[in-house]
Amino acid sequence: MTSSEPSQSASFYFGSNFKMHKTLGEVKTFVLLLKKLCEDRPDLQLFVIPPFTALGGLGELPRPRNLWIGAQNMHWASSGPYTGEIAAPMLRDLGVDLVMLGHAERRHKFGETDSELHRKVQSAVLHHLRVLLCVGETAEQRRFGVTVEVLALQLKIALSDFPAARLDQLVVAYEPVWAIGAGSQEATPAEITPSISQIRATLSARFGGEARHIPVLYGGSVTQHNGGAYVVETGVDGLFVGRAAWQPDGFISVLEAALAARQNA
Ligand code: PEP
Repeated sequence: MTSSEPSQSASFYFGSNFKMHKTLGEVKTFVLLLKKLCEDRPDLQLFVIPPFTALGGLGELPRPRNLWIGAQNMHWASSGPYTGEIAAPMLRDLGVDLVMLGHAERRHKFGETDSELHRKVQSAVLHHLRVLLCVGETAEQRRFGVTVEVLALQLKIALSDFPAARLDQLVVAYEPVWAIGAGSQEATPAEITPSISQIRATLSARFGGEARHIPVLYGGSVTQHNGGAYVVETGVDGLFVGRAAWQPDGFISVLEAALAARQNA
């Protein structure tokens, strides 16, 4: 069984991008552990996004529908002369539930543009993949006071033509580039709250009232110490975590701390 049915009604979304880390064996161990947690907490929607090399071996692993497996990228064409690239139908063939598009490292280290992301989003939707769309401003853009404009631009271009009937295939992650990864600056909840509001406003201008069902997550140096404050103070629907959730015990600690903070709020 794969978790391919849409589920956009979770009480909390929580996942990790493993980037260029982890073998298939390591990811399998992770998934088996999360499977039990997901069975005990059907109200949660968990996800992991391992490297492409682990995806094939996970397809046959039974997992509950509230545990999504994601890919870190894909090409916008369904097939063709694009050596080294992976297409949406290939991800579907492996039982992948979701594709992350627009991660800051893809945008800024590989030069991915908003219009390429638009094409990728179109292809993902066409092939029934959920999209985890990452948006976020650089430190320079924030310094020049154009965060709001940058977020609106990234969302408007990537989601242009996104079919309203497929909103259950969309999750948005706000990941300010200056707050992601080793050596970055941890954001305060007060710094990110206006961006979260801007994202929600852009989504509702684009999709109307139905936009309230689109989960908006926060990612950027989230740990077990700050995750709760992000959730409670900014009103995000979940967290998207890198380094602090790369080990199963870290994943669980950050998740539990955030859930506890939310419950005590
Ligand atoms: C990321 O790279 O998407 C991310 C959120 O990383 P970290 O949590 O390590 O800052």
